[in-house]
Amino acid sequence: MSASIINGKQVSAEIREGLRQEVERLEKQGFTPGLAVVLVGEDPASQVYVRNKEKACHDLGYYSEVHRLPASTTQEELLALVDKLNRQENIHGILVQLPLPGHIVEKAVIDAIAVEKDVDGFHPVNVGNLVIGDDSLLPCTPAGVIELIKRTGIELSGKHAVVIGRSNIVGKPVSLLLQRENATVTMCHSRTANMKELTKQADILVVAIGRANFVDASYVKPGAVVIDVGMNRLDNGKLAGDVDFESVQSISGPITPVPGGVGPMTITMLMQNTLIAAKRLQGLA
Ligand code: NAP
Repeated sequence: MSASIINGKQVSAEIREGLRQEVERLEKQGFTPGLAVVLVGEDPASQVYVRNKEKACHDLGYYSEVHRLPASTTQEELLALVDKLNRQENIHGILVQLPLPGHIVEKAVIDAIAVEKDVDGFHPVNVGNLVIGDDSLLPCTPAGVIELIKRTGIELSGKHAVVIGRSNIVGKPVSLLLQRENATVTMCHSRTANMKELTKQADILVVAIGRANFVDASYVKPGAVVIDVGMNRLDNGKLAGDVDFESVQSISGPITPVPGGVGPMTITMLMQNTLIAAKRLQGLA
């Protein structure tokens, strides 16, 4: 029997429709949430991501600014733009597209973004608030992962979740969010011994390692929810997840496909964060 597929595209479309309606209501009160995206250089993948963010703003009725800067931009010039956006009243969310060119210190730029406009959720204060369980702007992909798990209707409380990958942008925040939902969380990484013994105990398995089709059915407990964050470009140009979908879906519970699983959720959660930030800054939250 094959598992049910978690349709990230559909969940994303449902959330976006809710956001669109709320933005329309705010617009009638004379208020428009605004997102500024900054792109430095000509990285092709980053250009696609930025265009998709611009389109999402347009589709949902947000005010949007995209600052496309040459790869030669200095750190000082970029910090000056961030400072300007921090003070700009019609901008409620600031996203600096990563990676930045090598001569710019990413941490210096992330640290410079106003905490209340940090819609990527990467600022150390937002990360710290996530750790201690205070209100914060949540990192987008991890927030999307939790949303997809919740939409399966599975109760997270008391479940054993295993996360493979401990990056600052995916694995670590996913594990913190799962703990916030009262799951018991095991973290695995490249030095984990006997990983299969751990993953086979998981009621919920989240995979974020960046290795195409790495996790097959031998890692998975029958019926487990499997969330594949991986996005790997194969030599034939196709996109593959970190999970061998064909193998795993034969024994798992609900599972996300790649593409069409976690991927579509990231920009949707960015748009949700921007609305949250805008309402807080406007005193509407
Ligand atoms: P990353 O920074 O490279 O981190 C990878 C993590 O996986 C590290 O913690 C690493 O362990 C661990 N790892 C690598 N090989 C492993 C192995 N064989 N066994 C166990 N653990 C292993 O990657 P990332 O930024 O988290 O991204 C992970 C994947 O998610 C990538 O495919 C990326 O493209 C994708 N992604 C998708 C979205 C989206 O859908 N919107 C967003 C972000 C990322 P160590 O710490 O020990 O090195």
